[in-house]
Amino acid sequence: MNEKEWFIEIFEDRTAFSVRYDKKLFDKQSDFQRVEIFETQAMGRVLILNGCFMVTEKDAFVYHEMLVHPAMAVTREPKKVLIIGGGDGGAVTEVIKYPHVDSVTLCEIDPMVVEACREYLPEVSAGLDDPRVEVVYRDGAAFVQERPNQFDLILVDSTDPVGPAKILFEKSFYQWVMDSLREGGNAVFQTESPFFMEDVFCEAVKKLKKVFGSQSVHPYFATIPCYPGGLWSFCLCAEGFEPGQAAPEVESLRYYDRRVHQAAFAAPVFVKEMLR
Ligand code: SAM
Repeated sequence: MNEKEWFIEIFEDRTAFSVRYDKKLFDKQSDFQRVEIFETQAMGRVLILNGCFMVTEKDAFVYHEMLVHPAMAVTREPKKVLIIGGGDGGAVTEVIKYPHVDSVTLCEIDPMVVEACREYLPEVSAGLDDPRVEVVYRDGAAFVQERPNQFDLILVDSTDPVGPAKILFEKSFYQWVMDSLREGGNAVFQTESPFFMEDVFCEAVKKLKKVFGSQSVHPYFATIPCYPGGLWSFCLCAEGFEPGQAAPEVESLRYYDRRVHQAAFAAPVFVKEMLR
């Protein structure tokens, strides 16, 4: 595999995932990370941060629909939404599909990610142009700490727990997120791979349960082809939510609907065991 034609993400020096590319569209070092975008036949355009797959045009809809719609289904008409990370704009593009949302704040630490995705991933980042959206270039942990009792829904769409994203997997950050929710507000965190980041996943669930309460933290799953191991986890933190409860029907999405909603909260046996 010659590196002039293949982008290769090497994960922990033991496994790799690769895609052949036709052209490298963007390659710059920001204050926080290396930002690359490739044109590929198999997965469309692909955003890479510090050598890791972040978003591909092929499977972005799975990740962004599953980060956003389960929480939208169980939160009473959220009006003020905060997204931490998510600089590709994909989560914003899903949130603005709800007319009852008054404002979406995207708190992304790296302006270069937003600029590159606006230019090269126009469909994924389309929601950034909605008049209800405000983009803030700051550390999400500092931002949320200063805003107690402000949001109805907080979505944490971070990179892996290294560098600036490390704090987004700390218990203190989870507490600041909870404190920043209004009465009846909920939060969702992307909590990594149960296959290849078992410790990170289990630690996140444990810390979230300490902050939000053991009955209010609900892991759920989806398969994201470009992420290490495919199977990916999220945690919905919502008081009073019962995973078995039916979700309202949502039309015209490409991955999520009320059947997928219910199935997503059914943890595979090996995951239930690791969380026991
Ligand atoms: N869906 C991807 C995943 O699951 O790995 C993440 C998408 S998005 C590109 C992740 C974003 O989090 C990056 O743009 C990164 O700059 C941002 N980020 C990392 N740490 C952050 C922090 N402390 N505050 C705000 N944004 C942060």
